Amino acid sequence: MRQKINRRFTGIALFSVVITTIVMTAVFYSQLKKQVFSDLAVVADLLIDEGSYARKTDNLRITWIDADGKVLFDSTVDGQSLANHLDRPEIAEAVSSGSGMGIRKSDTLSESVFYYAKKLDNGQILRVGRETHSVVAVLLSALPMVLTTALVLAAICLMVSHYLTSAIVEPINKMAGDMEHIDEGKSYPELIPFTRKIRLQHEEILSAANIRQEFTANVSHELKTPLAAISGYAELMEAGLVNDKEMKRFSGEIRKSAARLLTLINDIIKLSQLDAGNAKDILDVVNLAEITKESVEMLVFGAAKNGIDVVYEGDDRADVHIGKELAQELVYNLIENAVRYNKPNGRVIVKVQKEGTQIIFSVEDTGIGIPLEHQERIFERFYRVDKSRSKELGGTGLGLAIVKHICNLTDADVNLMSKPGVGTKIFIVWGRGST
Ligand code: ADP
Repeated sequence: MRQKINRRFTGIALFSVVITTIVMTAVFYSQLKKQVFSDLAVVADLLIDEGSYARKTDNLRITWIDADGKVLFDSTVDGQSLANHLDRPEIAEAVSSGSGMGIRKSDTLSESVFYYAKKLDNGQILRVGRETHSVVAVLLSALPMVLTTALVLAAICLMVSHYLTSAIVEPINKMAGDMEHIDEGKSYPELIPFTRKIRLQHEEILSAANIRQEFTANVSHELKTPLAAISGYAELMEAGLVNDKEMKRFSGEIRKSAARLLTLINDIIKLSQLDAGNAKDILDVVNLAEITKESVEMLVFGAAKNGIDVVYEGDDRADVHIGKELAQELVYNLIENAVRYNKPNGRVIVKVQKEGTQIIFSVEDTGIGIPLEHQERIFERFYRVDKSRSKELGGTGLGLAIVKHICNLTDADVNLMSKPGVGTKIFIVWGRGST
């Protein structure tokens, strides 16, 4: 950037110098021409007044021509040897209009001869000529001056452009160096939307990095407990410290811990799949009512063992653009929670309803409820109201995070109503944005 600006400044300066020189030379030359011709006219008039043409002067050429073009006298050459002069432009012009002018190259390139011719009363012509610098000579004489000016200007431009470039680039460098304190008032107003966007992205990146770091720490912690249990029990068994009766219980504990590890890892895999950019590819229109009924059927038996009644009371058909896999995931997680955090002999009512252009999925339970201060946070990864209870019941703390993720992906709103000791209702609405 710096180099580019420098180059441009210098280029513009040199271009201006060249153009100015050409224009100035042209103006100067035209002035010179005018001056020379008017001088020659004065000389010619003086000679005519005096009435003597045949004279020699140092720097003037005087030619006296008869009306038929024959040269009567020439101050520089022998008049007799000169050819008929009627074809000379300035003389032809003088014959026809009384006076004429002409410029011709002299023997040397650097000089031109300016001629002024005037018709006398008797039809003869008097011509005066003078050698003067040619346009090339004028240009050449200006060259050293032009070159010096160009060099000086280039030097000044380099300095100025260096200073200007620094002044332009400095705030940008400063901004880049200190993202957190991009001072919107002081930087370029044109850059404000740009800096805002960068700061926003910067913040997003930071917060995403924080979330990821926190998640990794949580995952490690969650994996540690069952692994430590497995390793502990196995160690005892290996040392032969477990009798036959306890063997069964220990094996059971190992199996439970392993199962827990599996569910955890499954949930983590699901979340990372949802995090991946291509999660939207698997979306597809499916009958959510049908999928929900199937999930209810799968869970009814296990729930009944704990005396909990799960019923489906919704429509038979409700199409949602979500895809079978994510639909099952979402429905299963919510119903499982409603069963898991229920009270003995509790009830779970599941519905999928069409209302206008909206599809509403809801799970209502008569369980323990969620205190208000936790309601916002239960959708966070690994957040549980009662950690030991969740773990005891096989929860990972990731179920609602997965649900929330699926809702974001399918443009659904998640709503929660809960009262501790009474129950919880979670309902998810698709199509709110399109109405
Ligand atoms: P978990 O695997 O622990 O169930 P979730 O993400 O599914 O994790 O839920 C987070 C927490 O929210 C749970 O630990 C529980 O405290 C609370 N929760 C979720 N659903 C319900 C519900 N239906 N009734 C009461 N509490 C619930």
